[in-house]
Amino acid sequence: MKIAIVGGGVGGLTLARVLAVHGIEVVVYEREASRSARAQGGMLDLHVETGQRALRIAGLESEFLAIARREGQDMRLLDPAGKILHQEDTPDDAPMARPELDRSDLRAILLDSLPEETIQWGHALSNAEPAERAERAERAEAGERGEAGERGERAERGEQGGYRLRFTNGATAECDLLVGADGANSVVRPLLTDARPAHMGVNSVELGIPDADNTHPELAAMVGRGNYWALGDGQHLAAQRNGDGRIRVYLSFHGPEDWLETCGIPFGEPEKARAALADLFRDWHPQYRELIEACDDTVVPRALSALPIGLSWSAVPGVTLIGDAAHLMPPAGEGANLAMLDAAELALGLAADPANAVRTYELEMFERSAAAAKQSAEVHKLVMAGADALLKFFTRTT
Ligand SMILES: Cc1cc2nc3c(=O)[nH]c(=O)nc-3n(C[C@H](O)[C@H](O)[C@H](O)COP(=O)(O)OP(=O)(O)OC[C@H]3O[C@@H](n4cnc5c(N)ncnc54)[C@H](O)[C@@H]3O)c2cc1C
Repeated sequence: MKIAIVGGGVGGLTLARVLAVHGIEVVVYEREASRSARAQGGMLDLHVETGQRALRIAGLESEFLAIARREGQDMRLLDPAGKILHQEDTPDDAPMARPELDRSDLRAILLDSLPEETIQWGHALSNAEPAERAERAERAEAGERGEAGERGERAERGEQGGYRLRFTNGATAECDLLVGADGANSVVRPLLTDARPAHMGVNSVELGIPDADNTHPELAAMVGRGNYWALGDGQHLAAQRNGDGRIRVYLSFHGPEDWLETCGIPFGEPEKARAALADLFRDWHPQYRELIEACDDTVVPRALSALPIGLSWSAVPGVTLIGDAAHLMPPAGEGANLAMLDAAELALGLAADPANAVRTYELEMFERSAAAAKQSAEVHKLVMAGADALLKFFTRTT
């Protein structure tokens, strides 16, 4: 079976790795030009039964332990007045239940585990269609008559005919199984469902302080070794310590999808954007504005969206989805974990029982992602409701 994975994020790369471990060749088509074309974003906490399990199946446990930061599990919850409402400090011998790791480190261990030729960089999928339909259209265009090609014959016998992929760089490719691992705005998804991500009523802006221990030691101490959340009415600030010494700062504002365009903040002019963003925290304790003002020129605005909870689809031969393409959900620490587990489960299925693997995987994935999406939506609602609501949640469950 010729397998094509579209998207070389955590899901697509984990799938390629587990398939490779089982001797199954695969090609990953990734739109980015190279492995270093884009900074990969912040930290991920990998959970024992999902993300960590996938890495064990991928045979990358020791590589994971080398990049996992136990102390990244520390957590501080504050109110706008700067009062610490809840604090968790991780003992040195605490279990690695949810250690944090840099997304770039995770991507590096996955890429290093794959033969170089597995990844086709600079291949952004523009469209995929059943191969026999593409062949018929080509023959008609060429004015040809006569025998159907091999895939056309297989389709006429009722066998799966595979997919023809077209990329924005002009390249084409064919495969028997197409796996969409192409994230939130998946190009593969419409082959299976009409569902589209809907805006969640919140927009975020990512900023960051490089080498915080040396450049801003007081702010670094304030944030601590892990996650730092300050929640207010209609907006919040989250900061997290990364393995490379950077503190990433995420500012979130409740509002409609077009808020990023209508708010008047010039996101393309970092100095002015920082000043305008800090001003939105003028009624909060001055420490929050200091944190924003200490950031460098990285300013990444994002509108947050999610797919419907419990999304599923009828089986379509030769195509499936993993990760955010299948179940984009509010960022509550599950998305990457689920993408990796999807990948590992699908790969194990394809190695053991290729004929039934995809549907078996899909039915299990629908169930677990519906439960996780429901839970993530609840956490998102608590975060939107402010510090007191989240405090009740922490003190109830810890
Ligand atoms: C701010 C933020 C914080 C988060 N924090 C966490 C966390 O702490 N823990 C956690 O588990 N999850 C977290 N998530 C969610 C997590 O990032 C995603 O769930 C996860 O990255 C999904 O992995 P994926 O492989 O499905 O998709 P992605 O990681 O989005 O990868 C998709 C890949 O496909 C490529 N691609 C896209 N379109 C095409 C195309 N047309 N052709 C070819 N390639 C294409 C992209 O370039 C990319 O490399 C967070 C998300 C956000 C926004």
